[in-house]
Amino acid sequence: MGARLFIRNDDVWTLDREFCFFFDLARDLGIPVVYAVIPGKMDQGLVRFLCRAREKTPQLLDIVQHGWMHTNYSVDAGTKYEFGALRAVKSQREDIKQGQKKMRLAFGDHFIPAFVPPYHGYDQRTLRVLHEEGFQIFSAGDYLREIKSRFIEMPAQISFSRYEQGQKIIRNASDVVGPLVRGIHRRPLSGVVTHHADFVTNASHKELMRFFQCISALEVKEGWRMLLFSDILSTLKGFKGRS
Ligand SMILES: [Zn+2]
Repeated sequence: MGARLFIRNDDVWTLDREFCFFFDLARDLGIPVVYAVIPGKMDQGLVRFLCRAREKTPQLLDIVQHGWMHTNYSVDAGTKYEFGALRAVKSQREDIKQGQKKMRLAFGDHFIPAFVPPYHGYDQRTLRVLHEEGFQIFSAGDYLREIKSRFIEMPAQISFSRYEQGQKIIRNASDVVGPLVRGIHRRPLSGVVTHHADFVTNASHKELMRFFQCISALEVKEGWRMLLFSDILSTLKGFKGRS
């Protein structure tokens, strides 16, 4: 299996220091990133910035929808979700629709019909609504447990941060690259999820830089391919066009 991967960065809504650091680093090293934007929170500065970036370097970023407000509605300490068991289907639909409307108005054709559920939480009703509202790509932490999925699935199996006894730990670059190297030929596509807000300290900045440099080197030496969701959509359109 060819070595293909994508990087998704979540919780994008404003041009704060952490976001700018992450964005500039990825852009300067030529790393394509799928940015999951929170529609109910995003501000005008971010919208203008991402639109300009897409115009200048469309090959380096995708803009996708990350829920509505990123609210946690779970009352169970072990789980978090914006979309899930305690949300009526009507409320789920309203949130998904108003998010999609804002994303379309803000980003126009730059918006990719892909949905990332906050906290990777969802239920069957979420999936039904997303399908009915025209989303083509679904990206959580793992594949859906359905024999025939209605979506192109882009799960991000590897996370740059993890929780240990309630504490967030930022991994070293080698702890992210290790599992990637081990799994990349076994999966059709590997995904890494990052949260720019995690990269606050100088040490974590270095690890992020090391990670980006490492996958760039693997791209050159081992033929790894870094993809965006839009690359997958245009490949599918190309196939349909030829048949
Ligand atoms: Zn999130």
